[in-house]
Amino acid sequence: MKPVVTRFPPSPTGSLHVGGARTALFNWLYARHSGGRFVLRIEDTDTKRSSRASADAIFESLEWMGIDWDEGPYFQSQRSEMYAEFIEKLLSSGHAYYCSCSPERLDQMRRKAMAGGGKPKYDGTCREKKLSPIDGAVIRFKAPLFGTTVLVDVVKGDIVFEHDELDDFILVRSDRIPTYNFAVVVDDITMGINTIIRGDDHVMNTPKQILLYQALRSELPVYAHVPMVLGSDRSRLSKRHGAMSVTAYRDMGYLPEALINYLARLGWSHGDQEFFTRQELIEKFTLNNIGRSAGIFDHDKLLALNADHIMASDPKDLIDPLSPFAEESGFNIESGDFIENVIRTLQPRSKTLKDMAADALFYFQDDITYDAKAAAKFLRVEALTPLNRLIAALESIDRFSEQNLESAFRSVMEQTGLKLGKIAQPVRVALTGRTASPGIFEITEIIGKKNVLERLRKAVAYIEKLT
Ligand code: GLU
Repeated sequence: MKPVVTRFPPSPTGSLHVGGARTALFNWLYARHSGGRFVLRIEDTDTKRSSRASADAIFESLEWMGIDWDEGPYFQSQRSEMYAEFIEKLLSSGHAYYCSCSPERLDQMRRKAMAGGGKPKYDGTCREKKLSPIDGAVIRFKAPLFGTTVLVDVVKGDIVFEHDELDDFILVRSDRIPTYNFAVVVDDITMGINTIIRGDDHVMNTPKQILLYQALRSELPVYAHVPMVLGSDRSRLSKRHGAMSVTAYRDMGYLPEALINYLARLGWSHGDQEFFTRQELIEKFTLNNIGRSAGIFDHDKLLALNADHIMASDPKDLIDPLSPFAEESGFNIESGDFIENVIRTLQPRSKTLKDMAADALFYFQDDITYDAKAAAKFLRVEALTPLNRLIAALESIDRFSEQNLESAFRSVMEQTGLKLGKIAQPVRVALTGRTASPGIFEITEIIGKKNVLERLRKAVAYIEKLT
């Protein structure tokens, strides 16, 4: 069997959005699953709307998602010779012809058809004229007039198209730019693409493409048309449904692992499993399990999955992705035991890396600023005795292990007759400035003896000043 070759051919007219990212992901997963190849191609024949900056943004998003390509990026704008060669083939085999009908005439024809309630369709004026190349002429495909074309689709089953519904569609425009349907077929043939997974908005283009394959005597690829991603109101996903670009998710503190897991599940399934590692996705991804109904993009589900992936990560692997968020929050991190321990305490409480960085700040501050409400509630006269007793108990401990810390707190509980919570809350505010944080023994251990004592003394001074 020939190795699977898939492709992702975005038009570089903006950033990569989640719908496009899902298409890229499916093609990549299927290539990796089957030990095949994944080709990246930039469809930039529309020079007005295309830009290099958009292409670069797409590469950046793919790289961030860990979607690597084996070939390319190819740029359609650099392949005009290839299209010229193939148009020659179609012209000489009689599958294509020059058409010199003026835009005004075509427009008139279109309007007439629409007014009559019919579908606008080229009337074939130039079909048999055998015109030679003339400036300003287009090249059309000589589509069959009768019969049907069947799209055999892995996801949708067989779809039959009647040829009398088809047009002699344009292959090359008057400005010599190839149309999407023509360029895509030339590219897919010459790049050896044998599996095409794409959004089902392209179903209507596929009979035209199939006819081109047949005219060029080329083997058809396997087609899998995936239902579109919809917004929560079941309309086609757009900006008004919230953040849609891959980089927006990166910048909000999502892990690429979580995004690809979520996008894979949006239109594909493996039993009831929701959480997948990248490796599991590669192992389990087949075309058979692509669903027939549209996936609805659910921000909350993605957020929950992000929390699960943060939780499941090795703290070491979170250091780099956390770094930019730490900087944003005002501190720098260096790899080592300290940051790994910090991350470990925050993993169960962080939905995004941004949350994690904000919550990690107290570990790195020399001078804790107290949240006003937290201070008013817990840094009060009653806290002086337990805080002072705890300072004394901690001063005598050399090693801040969880066990030693627990017995220090316990001795203060015995001396004061207070419950752990009554002691822990003022301590928490003293150490973090807030009323919520990871476990009190954990943070005390990580902050370390010198800094803990400093922070406790500062809290004592703060209370003494109040009275
Ligand atoms: N450039 C097209 C798009 O972004 C590619 C469609 C296809 O996969 O053939 O929609």
